[in-house]
Order: sequence, then structure tokens, then C-alpha cells
Amino acid sequence: MQRFRLISDPDESIAGQDAVAMLEALGGPTALFFSGVDARRTRAVVTLLHGNEPSGVFALREWLLSGKRPAVNLLFIVASVHAALTPPQFSHRMLPRARDLNRCFKGPFDDEQGLLAQDILSLLEVYSPEAVIDIHNTSGSGPAFGVCTHLDRQHDALISIFTRRLVLSHLNLGALMEISDDSCPTVTVEVGGRLDDEAHALAIEGLFRFATADRVLAPEGKTDWGLEVFGAPIRLELQSGVTVAYHESPKPGYDVTLRADIEHHNFGTVSPDTPLGWLAGTPESVFRAQDAAGSCAVARLVRDEGGQLFPASTLRLFMITTNAAIAESDCLFYAVIDEQQDGDQAA
Ligand SMILES: [Zn+2]
Repeated sequence: MQRFRLISDPDESIAGQDAVAMLEALGGPTALFFSGVDARRTRAVVTLLHGNEPSGVFALREWLLSGKRPAVNLLFIVASVHAALTPPQFSHRMLPRARDLNRCFKGPFDDEQGLLAQDILSLLEVYSPEAVIDIHNTSGSGPAFGVCTHLDRQHDALISIFTRRLVLSHLNLGALMEISDDSCPTVTVEVGGRLDDEAHALAIEGLFRFATADRVLAPEGKTDWGLEVFGAPIRLELQSGVTVAYHESPKPGYDVTLRADIEHHNFGTVSPDTPLGWLAGTPESVFRAQDAAGSCAVARLVRDEGGQLFPASTLRLFMITTNAAIAESDCLFYAVIDEQQDGDQAA
């Protein structure tokens, strides 16, 4: 844990003038420990795994300013402080040439980001929280949703503190929430766009609920949390070296152009006749997509019709980015094949 500074029961003065001043005061990766009314239990919040996702930091600052005491101990882990403070502030997901920290939790742990991930895992092991919430923002604007790897009442209960949308992910990316087990349910909450005031407000409200509730796990017998579940999402990625632009018409010189308004489909359903953009080449030559079984899923997601890009079947899309750098380094969007809709059409 040598990369983390530990601060116990911090004074509100560390909140500073604003979030940047607060991070400067923390100086680097920091774990803040707040003693709870019930000191026998601990809950953990992790945030800023990505330096350009500030909502969790804003929530921490509000918590500090409130002077409240949490119901149980609260361990608040703030990770990518250096990336966040690198100008322009809150714009770097990670520092140049560094690996994505939220892809490092399954090793290898032999570089700076891997060691940071390992320290976070050690902190969680030592403090043994009853639940972990990892607060993120999406790069584009959009509604909040939770992500977890198991569909059970504990994960449902934790997600419902923040939102009613749940993405069930079996993708093995090395994300923090993939370490979740029965002894420590861990969920990711994407509170909304990184520049959206509503996202910051939700992070604050959710944190206060999580920190002050007597109980955050599911009571015996309660199973229905009224969540809308998006199961088995597949990431549509670009093949390496493929270029992408966002525009109202095919942009010359780019392999793929996605419609500039594609974000509007976030968490919506797109039918096979919904135009998504344009491509030069076959879908398989420009895109990459792998289902949970490891098979290529490109042809099940998208199709080419005379250079125009359409869904291959009815899809529900989310985490759509319109940032070419993120599209190239991460993915274009997540898609869930809507079996129900397809079944209806076939029938
Ligand atoms: Zn993130």
C-alpha cells in the first residue's frame, strides 16, 4: 500500500476551495478513513480510477464539508490524483503511455498502474468492507447506470442506491467490480456524463445514502429492486489502425464515420433500419467484437449496406462515445442483442 497515503478522520479543511485544491492537498493516491457510528463494519467507495471522471471527487468534497459521521466506517479511495491534476485538469483518463487503471485488477501488477491496482486490492482486503461502490462517469452525456458481474440481490440493492438501470457484464477486462464475491459485493456506478451537473448531484446523493444508511445490503427475502437489466453486452471496438470520425456524412480519409448524433441512442433500442454511420471496407475489416464465449460477434451487431452502417438486428446500445480517442483506445459502444424483439420479428 506504499503508493497510497492514508488519512484517518480528515478535517473538513482538506476539502479546500474546490475539488482541484482538495486533490492538490491529497497530493497523490489517497485512502481517507472516516470512523463510523458503528465501528464494527466498514463500507468502501473507490473513485477516480479514471482521472477525467470527477463526480466521485465532488461527492467526497461535499461529504467532507458536511461534517457528517457515517453510519459505519467509510473507506474512501481516490486513485488517479496525478492524472486528474495534469493540465487540463480532469481531462486525462490516465497519464500518457499508462495502462487504463480499471483494466489492471487481474494483473499483471508489474508496472506503475498494476501496482496501484494491487494496492487498492490490498486496502480492500485489510479493511474488509461489507460493500464496495466504484463511482465513474461516462465520457459522453447520458443517464446513470450500474454495472456488475453477478445478478443477485446484494448487487441489486447496492445499484439501487444510485440508479434503476443495471448492466450485467461478463466481460473479463480486469475491472475492479470483477473481483466481487459474496463476502464483498462490488459494483460500478456510472453516475452520468463527466461534465454533467446531474451526474455530480447523483454522485453526492448516492454517496450520502450509501454512507448514512444503517443497511445497504438486501434485507432477507427482498429480491425485487425494480431494475431494468441489460444482460450480456458486447463491446464494438475498432480494429487496430482503423480511424473513426463523427460527422453528418462520410468524412473523407476516415475508415469509419459514425453519425454525430449517435449518442442519442444511449440506452435506447435501435432497429435494423436505423442508420449508424458509414464505413470503408467490410464490418469485419474495421470492427472487432467478442461475445462472452470468445467468438467474433461483429456480424451479429452491425451490417454494411452499400457503405452505410446499420445494426444487424435490434440492439440496445449504451456507453456510446463520440470521442474518437476513446473510441480508438476503448470501444465505440456496448450493445445488447434484443432477443425478444428479434423473436417478435421472426414470428
Ligand atoms: Zn471510468
